[in-house]
Amino acid sequence: MFDISRVDHIGIAVKDLEQAKKFYTEMLGLKASGEEVVAEQKVKVCFIPCGDSELELLESTSPDGPIAKFIEKKGEGLQHVALRVDNIEQTLADLKEKGVRLIDEKPRYGAGGASIAFVHPKATGGILLELSQRK
Ligand code: ZN
Repeated sequence: MFDISRVDHIGIAVKDLEQAKKFYTEMLGLKASGEEVVAEQKVKVCFIPCGDSELELLESTSPDGPIAKFIEKKGEGLQHVALRVDNIEQTLADLKEKGVRLIDEKPRYGAGGASIAFVHPKATGGILLELSQRK
């Protein structure tokens, strides 16, 4: 069996990253880490560490990006839950063998240099599930 160690982060789709960040930092007193643009996913990301896990604020950098499309359909809010895995290649291979519907069969680049892959909401009870292996 592969090893899932924790909820790595919770992804929150927002229209305005600066405004959303203000809530978490100024109102809740959390500290934001740096921002990063992930060009491949047309998104600007800001991580906010919170205990053993993090919040990931996601703002689209393009009207045709996945986050823009998500907000158009569902509005701002919870977009995905990410679980930390030790070996993403192995986890994906195991899930594929079990017939789990994957969005990504191969890991791709995620913010902060993580390797990430998404599992389809049809397989997970309705949430977009990200698997994340940190450097
Ligand atoms: Zn994420």
